[in-house]
Amino acid sequence: MGKCNICGKSAGLFRKQHKACLIQLREGIVKIEQKLADFFDNVKHEKSEIDLIQSQCLLPDIIVETCYENVYSQFLDQFLDDGLFESAEEDKLVEYQSHFELSISVLNRNGALDKAVRASILRDLINGENITGRVKISGNLPFKLMKSEELIAVMKNVKLSEQRVHTEYKGKSSGLSIKIAKGVYYRTSGFKGKPIKNLSMDYIDVGLLALTTKHIYFASKIKNFRIRYDRIVAVKPYSDGVGIQKDGVSSKPMIFSNIDGWFCYNFLMNIDNYQTSEVQK
Ligand SMILES: [Zn+2]
Repeated sequence: MGKCNICGKSAGLFRKQHKACLIQLREGIVKIEQKLADFFDNVKHEKSEIDLIQSQCLLPDIIVETCYENVYSQFLDQFLDDGLFESAEEDKLVEYQSHFELSISVLNRNGALDKAVRASILRDLINGENITGRVKISGNLPFKLMKSEELIAVMKNVKLSEQRVHTEYKGKSSGLSIKIAKGVYYRTSGFKGKPIKNLSMDYIDVGLLALTTKHIYFASKIKNFRIRYDRIVAVKPYSDGVGIQKDGVSSKPMIFSNIDGWFCYNFLMNIDNYQTSEVQK
């Protein structure tokens, strides 16, 4: 006799779960996500209500935690779709986290919390406000930062590729963006369905990428370098990466992938207008 993997009671021969248990579990998820979404409609259910549904519907912690992150992520995306992440929207997400007593690991299992931090960095960058002091690093970084620069973001497992020499990079109709004025901001929706196509690229290595107030750094086993922002002449957006062209005739276009293209693109398009001296504090 098999045991039901939801209620733990006998489920009958060759069965992994009771149909009724599965239905109840699915209903529980819907109910919880609905109650959590109410928070953004200013209907604040208590955490105890969520806990009650969890126990009634026999939901494992991991599923409930996923619900918490899903709803958070869904509203974050909604906030980002209509333009810059407003302070009031950010406050709402912070309030959600504290109201339901959610730990960082719960909200960041799929990176929703990190995405919110990046969104707030972009907003402050574009608005000319201070963007430093948001990244927490455990352990040492393989970069030697200059005294006058500060770390803004670090990304792991970033793939570096180079455009092959014989392929034409400039002047392609596929959307090479030339750096222009201050305050360029592309919405998240503009990045959907624009993945990097590996066709004319040579994969180089995978490593750590860091963005500071002055440079982009890359460190891997075979390649270590930094590029000053004012030496970047073009930035190309992808959903899962960003392409950059450095000045100088011999430099090949580089593509960093397996990263948040929306953030990196908007960051690189705006960072060279960032003047530490102009920022208060
Ligand atoms: Zn059951």
